[in-house]
Amino acid sequence: YDAIVIGAGLGGLLSAAQLLQRGKSVALLERLDHCGGRFTAKTFKGVQVSTGAVHMVPFGSSGVLARTLRRLQIPHRLLDADVFGSFHVHGRQVRARGLLGVYRFLGPRQFFWFLRLGYLMFFRPLPTSEGDLPFSAWLARHINVERNRELVAFFERIARFALSLELHQVSTAEVIATTKNMFRYGAPGIVEGGCGALVAELERRLRERGAAVLLSHEVLQILHADGHVTGVRARNKASGDELLLSAPLVVSDIGPRATTALVENRQLRQAELLKQQREAAQVIAAAASEAPHAYREAVGLKVHVLSDVSLIPHRGIMYCLDTQRIAGIVQPTNSDPRLAPPGKHLLITHQVLQSENIEEEKALAIADLRRLFGETFERHCRILTMSVYRGEWPVNRLAQGRDLSPVTPLQGLFLVGDAVKPSGYLMVEGVAQSVNYLLDLLDA
Ligand code: FAD
Repeated sequence: YDAIVIGAGLGGLLSAAQLLQRGKSVALLERLDHCGGRFTAKTFKGVQVSTGAVHMVPFGSSGVLARTLRRLQIPHRLLDADVFGSFHVHGRQVRARGLLGVYRFLGPRQFFWFLRLGYLMFFRPLPTSEGDLPFSAWLARHINVERNRELVAFFERIARFALSLELHQVSTAEVIATTKNMFRYGAPGIVEGGCGALVAELERRLRERGAAVLLSHEVLQILHADGHVTGVRARNKASGDELLLSAPLVVSDIGPRATTALVENRQLRQAELLKQQREAAQVIAAAASEAPHAYREAVGLKVHVLSDVSLIPHRGIMYCLDTQRIAGIVQPTNSDPRLAPPGKHLLITHQVLQSENIEEEKALAIADLRRLFGETFERHCRILTMSVYRGEWPVNRLAQGRDLSPVTPLQGLFLVGDAVKPSGYLMVEGVAQSVNYLLDLLDA
């Protein structure tokens, strides 16, 4: 092969499609029995239950992913949000089509500070001394956080939903870069048919164009000689057979940690990873600082809820300002009713995982759902799944703004995916942009 791609997540699929379009012969290896990684879905009780993403593409039909798909002529449709969102605050949901909606729940005083922050963020050059400040510290420098609780909650919930981070875990420069891109590209969109439909189209196209798509094939080692990658050793999980594939180019979609392990002929396991992360967290806590840790990931908890009645009246995100854990909820069936059985509504909640006590985190999510929807939740809703995302299946392999370079010490070995998303490009927009990065490097 001209190229081997490890991992058939969105990053691996897009890389393989781009390389094929450039006339390369490509083998794509995936250890699971299906493509898509954290961006696909399984049908469960007639519902498209996703393996990660909430069926949402952050910059919608004008974003980087959408453009890439158009360039690759992958059939798809993104249904963009019809509002900025809504905000659940003081026990009720306030819809915000634009600034007026924000004014309605912030009131005149906090709205004044909201506009002032907007000016400081977007209409004047950011002083160098402020760019690296954690966003929480930057806010505290410019507003009285005690007197502007809803305003702080506004930023906090958006960061938790969109980045799966607390405000002290993301730099001011990164918040500004990401928000500017949200304005530049536009509203988020739900994928028609859900993320599984998009992945199926990508896989179909790869097979049609002659790529070897090897599912249930786990890469065990990345082979190299004299500082240059030469191929991979893999195992067919069904038969147990091992195979060697050679190529001068290997693209890894499995993140830096697992890639490094494969170069060293080791395989990283979830238990080992969680242990390493606990230790790293203790080091950070002991240092009483928020010094960036090399491999800090973004972790979360997501709940799929099936409801007999519609609870969110629009296609955007409902941010929850008066909850303990849940940061936001989408009702993707507003965009595509086929994501759930006829007459039913699918809701997906997201929150940052704030402790190691998973049972408590789940209980807090349920308490939030009761607080938000009261009797309606008890009478009309059913929880389908509650899943935790961390270790080798996190929300983001590296926290926004702490991403690595796609270049590795081995010549011919590159990284793609959500550990190498460029600044300002979040989630799958960052994954798509990481593949554009790879192409630029190969062209250079
Ligand atoms: P992955 O999807 O993780 O792909 C890596 C693949 O490599 C996997 O399929 C894995 O099985 C395979 N693999 C690993 N090791 C090996 C090996 N040794 N050999 C062979 N194969 C291997 N993004 C959005 O844009 N919108 C959202 O609404 C959204 N919501 C999210 C909600 C949650 C709860 C989570 C978890 C994520 C969310 N994201 C969202 C983020 C998005 O899902 C990810 O950024 C994206 O799917 C990452 O794609 P990837 O290709 O980088 O990695």
